[in-house]
Amino acid sequence: MKVAYFSMEIGLTENIPTYSGGLGILAGDHIKSAADLNIPLVAITLLYKRGYFIQNINPFGQQEEMYPYFDPRAFMEPLPLKVRVRLEGRDVQIGVWKHNVRGAGNGEGNSRVSVYFLDTDLPDNAPADRLITQYLYGGDQHTRISQEAVLGIGGYLAMKRLEPNITTYHMNEGHAVFLTLAMLKDFNGEGEQVKSRCIFTTHTPVPAGHDKFDYDLARKVIGDYLPANIKSLAGEDLLNTTVLALNCSRAANGVSQLHGEISRLMFPGYNIGHITNGVHHLSWTGPEFKKLYDKYIPTWRNDPQQLADISQIPDSEIVAAKKGAKKRLISYINSLSDAGFTDERLTICFARRAAAYKRATLILSDLEFLFNLSYDRVQFVFAGKAHPQDEAGKELIKQIVNTGKQYENQLRLVFVPNYNIWVASLMTAGADVWLNTPRRPREASGTSGMKVCFNGGVNMSVLDGWWREACKNRVNGWAIGDDEDQDDEEAASDLYQDLEDMVTTYYANPRKWLSVMRHSICDITPYFNTHRMVLEYYRNYYR
Ligand SMILES: *Cc1c(COP(=O)(O)O)cnc(C)c1O
Repeated sequence: MKVAYFSMEIGLTENIPTYSGGLGILAGDHIKSAADLNIPLVAITLLYKRGYFIQNINPFGQQEEMYPYFDPRAFMEPLPLKVRVRLEGRDVQIGVWKHNVRGAGNGEGNSRVSVYFLDTDLPDNAPADRLITQYLYGGDQHTRISQEAVLGIGGYLAMKRLEPNITTYHMNEGHAVFLTLAMLKDFNGEGEQVKSRCIFTTHTPVPAGHDKFDYDLARKVIGDYLPANIKSLAGEDLLNTTVLALNCSRAANGVSQLHGEISRLMFPGYNIGHITNGVHHLSWTGPEFKKLYDKYIPTWRNDPQQLADISQIPDSEIVAAKKGAKKRLISYINSLSDAGFTDERLTICFARRAAAYKRATLILSDLEFLFNLSYDRVQFVFAGKAHPQDEAGKELIKQIVNTGKQYENQLRLVFVPNYNIWVASLMTAGADVWLNTPRRPREASGTSGMKVCFNGGVNMSVLDGWWREACKNRVNGWAIGDDEDQDDEEAASDLYQDLEDMVTTYYANPRKWLSVMRHSICDITPYFNTHRMVLEYYRNYYR
């Protein structure tokens, strides 16, 4: 058994900027756990030399984007191999770079996952073709379908040469689905042969998140690979990558229980299960808690399930570890701004892509309430990027930044620019509270809140995605609302009620707070990690 895991983005470290957010980080964590667990897997993605952007916030609260050149040579080696894909009747050459992810693999030392990065920036290609893999999610539909063709078709051809023993092709999102068309050609159009080799993970219940292409465009760009019956496989009106992936996979899954249910409603008649996402525990536990777990539960490194019993760890050491991680975050914030944050105050963090459904500004809907509740007691840290073409998302960022500035004497709020793996590590380790207020059920899973639990922080979130499965209200975190969809007004009202309860608990009942911290670790981390997740893929989908 050997798996080829295809993903449009992979986030392994902040030094390799080939990711934008959740999907890429999840892919990176999947790969790291596969390496640790010695699961035979290789990964394929694109090499973006101007990757996803670096975010700057100007004095007016406006997001500015920078695209510095990424030189891959320090992180990966070019392979002496090229594959060719026919796009718009031209041969496009694709180079392949290889990066090894080593597993923690106690002593064995040889467990690793090869990650192959595909690159069209080669001298033999026409200038326009050299740019295909330049930017991540930067382009129009034409660039997008070209990128997906390079990933799917180019990736499949590269695998045939480099990894001849692949038994399962795992499409992480529909972006990679054109691999099925290349494979279909190999099997002379026998769909069952393709189906028996592919599995598919869908990642969003938001319809716009499922790529759809005009057939005219598809014919123009990848006409050489479209079978005669493409419409019966991918939809009558538009080429729907999700529908194509579902039709060409032996199994498919959503990324949380609720998301599995929603996906079955969106795509009736398909075999869609769910595997709830996780995070790579060794990557997302900060040094303070790592030291603590190493001291009291040394087996946690190979088996994060062991964190279910933390009774040996004294309260005082948990409090001290949290304080240390919080100090790191606060000192970074104070180096960026003159907000004068301290590690004494309850620190609430909100960091995610500035998409409308995530409702970053829900907590700002009643400022008077916030001023009264929080000025001396709470400090808020926001972060997140808006897609460069998402003007509404940029407005959200502006509103947050400008609210913090305008009311600096009534509200302690800072916006940390350039949310990436490094900023996320700092924030998830330092947060007392991780806030999430998506409009249900749009958050397929979410993972950032899991990182917080490994670091003794607590979640406060709408019961969407993973949190619906993890939350015991006021025992291991806070639930905003019940297990049902709410409008913004209801959600805001519940959010404020919970906030008040939370702030009161933090200051008036430190024993209760400590108990919630402990439960956040021992209830949640044993399950919500990628070791558990990858083993589920292995047992239920790969074998
Ligand atoms: C973990 C992580 C995410 C995913 O978080 P969500 O909970 O899905 O918002 C996104 N971006 C970065 C940089 C992360 O580290």
